[in-house]
Amino acid sequence: MSILVYIEHAEGSIKKTSLEAISYGKALADKTAAGDVVAVALGGISDEELAKAGTAGAAKVLHVADGKLDAGVIQAHAEAVAQVFKQVGANTLVLAKSSLGDAVAARLAVKLDAGLVSNVVDLPDTSGEYKVKRSIYTGKAFAETIVSKDKKILAIKKNAVDLITDGSPAAVEKADITIGEENFAAKITSTDKAEGEILLPEADIVVSGGRGMKGPENWGMIEGLAKELGAATGCSKPVSDIGWRPHHEHVGQTGVKVAPTLYVAVGISGAIQHLAGVNSSKYIVVINKDPEAPFFKAADYGIVGDAFEVLPKLTEAIKAI
Ligand code: FAD
Repeated sequence: MSILVYIEHAEGSIKKTSLEAISYGKALADKTAAGDVVAVALGGISDEELAKAGTAGAAKVLHVADGKLDAGVIQAHAEAVAQVFKQVGANTLVLAKSSLGDAVAARLAVKLDAGLVSNVVDLPDTSGEYKVKRSIYTGKAFAETIVSKDKKILAIKKNAVDLITDGSPAAVEKADITIGEENFAAKITSTDKAEGEILLPEADIVVSGGRGMKGPENWGMIEGLAKELGAATGCSKPVSDIGWRPHHEHVGQTGVKVAPTLYVAVGISGAIQHLAGVNSSKYIVVINKDPEAPFFKAADYGIVGDAFEVLPKLTEAIKAI
């Protein structure tokens, strides 16, 4: 058995979710005596950065440095990973559950005739049938999935794995593969990223405001705290429906689903539809003046108080650190 991990990267750095996938791969390799974990990275990224995959447990990174892969064409990514998978004789591919990860994994399952499990939260039980635990119903329940195919693809849920940080730098080698032009049939001609903003779906910290903020004129307090924490800003659905904030900031069942390390909810009641978008967060901090607000039941830490008093003090305290 041999394990390959697909690395995603952005702005020159390996994504934390991919480091989690590598850590999962390493734990799986140790559990099943699968030997060294190999990772594959596509497109423009430095060897120095790729060597950091070693701290999370990869022994080697194969780099497909074809610049055309930077455009993120899914078909080409799937083809490159499939070729490397076959070349290294892997039988398990581990990757992060993400929009790109989902799209690549689905194509790879077909290309490799592999069994795919997404939203994986634990190492498989390999004592008999290959049983994998995954999160379902936006984190409200777990399902056990039996994979009967020889080849397996496991997409790991964000924040579900303990990150390994004490490995040695990985060896980085160029992968000897060629991706045919036919795999670049779909072309992304331009991408538009808001300058200086932290993208909500990717953010590691989110500060989110609800109707308790009373109006758009008070959002400076949410943005002030977000700035100090290096966070993205979000909001509840009514806040974007009324037009206080843009729709792309609306978090929840019908909006963006986030999985940050820290989610700070200010003046949000904690309706089930909002929680559906945030319950994969590692830590939830709730600020609400009503001690009976349902959000407190989902919180790791809570402050019962008026947001207009708490936010300035909290922001100042963080600034002073
Ligand atoms: P409110 O329910 O009005 O709560 C405001 C909170 O602020 C209260 O808890 C109050 O105690 C507190 N507060 C007031 N003043 C202060 C103050 N000065 N300081 C501190 N706290 C204060 N909602 C979503 O968010 N996302 C979704 O995706 C979503 N999808 C939905 C889908 C469906 C089909 C339906 C029916 C509803 C959906 N909703 C969604 C709406 C959801 O049910 C709630 O109505 C909504 O989340 C409530 O938003 P809120 O907490 O901002 O407002």
